[in-house]
Amino acid sequence: MTDEFTTNVYYDEDADSTEIEDKTVAVIGYGSQGHAHALNLDDSGVDVVVGLYEGSSSRSAAEADGLEVTTPRAAAEDADIVSILVPDTVQPSVYEQIRPALEPGDTLQFAHGFNIHYGQIEPSEEFDVTMIAPKSPGHLVRRNYENGEGTPGLLAIYQDASGNAKEEALAYAKGIGCTRAGVVETSFREETETDLFGEQAVLCGGVTSLVKQGYETLVDAGYSPEMAYFECLNELKLIVDLMYEGGLGEMWDSVSDTAEYGGLSRGDMVVDEGVRENMEETLEAVQDGTFAREWINENQANRPSYKQLRQAEKDHEIEAIGEELRALFAWGEE
Ligand code: NAD
Ligand code: MG
Repeated sequence: MTDEFTTNVYYDEDADSTEIEDKTVAVIGYGSQGHAHALNLDDSGVDVVVGLYEGSSSRSAAEADGLEVTTPRAAAEDADIVSILVPDTVQPSVYEQIRPALEPGDTLQFAHGFNIHYGQIEPSEEFDVTMIAPKSPGHLVRRNYENGEGTPGLLAIYQDASGNAKEEALAYAKGIGCTRAGVVETSFREETETDLFGEQAVLCGGVTSLVKQGYETLVDAGYSPEMAYFECLNELKLIVDLMYEGGLGEMWDSVSDTAEYGGLSRGDMVVDEGVRENMEETLEAVQDGTFAREWINENQANRPSYKQLRQAEKDHEIEAIGEELRALFAWGEE
């Protein structure tokens, strides 16, 4: 494994489709990513077989989409590339099922590095182990492809037994449309650790805590829950859309001077050094495997804390207020 954090970007012209033309790809799982990879590869002329356990509710969907469906084990038997696209928590047990079907030179292909990076799947040295991870939910990976557009993605090589792992992974990325938009080279370690940190500290965890604490601060000070909801949750979308389009600068340019001065002068007071230290601790728990161990144990114990945390979030007052307000106002409908 390499520790180098590289920034190579690959496009269509860097990928050679003939690398997977004569190969069979087994797509294991037909959920968000699985259906998009399978259909895009199929449309790109690649031989695809979908692997799903007997009785899986996804079976009828894959069959209705005109794909060949069999068990994970049988799909892996036929395949040169096995793309593991079941939920991360079930990948180790699915891997145990397909392992006897893998031959030297076969490729294990992932869309996220968790199980490889934290040693939950330990593939034989005779396999190529690669990652093509679209930076988007599967329905967009599919929709973009159908519209002739691409979805940005990440490429990482964990094991290159064949000497050809990167070329093949790039061809796979082309087959699902990622090289149309650009594929950034990374490592399993970097993808896994930045993904977990981002979702914990900023995207999913950080932002929801910021929203709830802002909401509670206003409501505790006697302001109406409706106003607190608008100010601390609803308007967040407008701000994020501007940052997405043109970075922080476009957002600052679009708000009033009062908002800009207030935000610039107060932002670091709210999200201060203490928050930064908490972020560093969060990152350390990702890097040293503490979080991964906790999550694996949580799943083995049937998710007791997860269920409690989920329920507490559902029970937060902001959720009830939001439901009322969203029913009153017809925003956000496409
Ligand atoms: P998903 O939850 O949408 O996949 C569900 C699929 O897995 C279904 O076809 C189901 O039949 C199958 N499945 C569910 N439980 C199973 C079990 N116990 N045994 C066998 N099969 C089972 O998963 P996803 O979100 O597409 O994630 C797949 C991979 O892609 C993961 O590694 C994930 O981290 C990665 N990824 C997801 C996204 C995303 O936006 N969803 C983005 C990038 C990468
Ligand atoms: Mg095989």
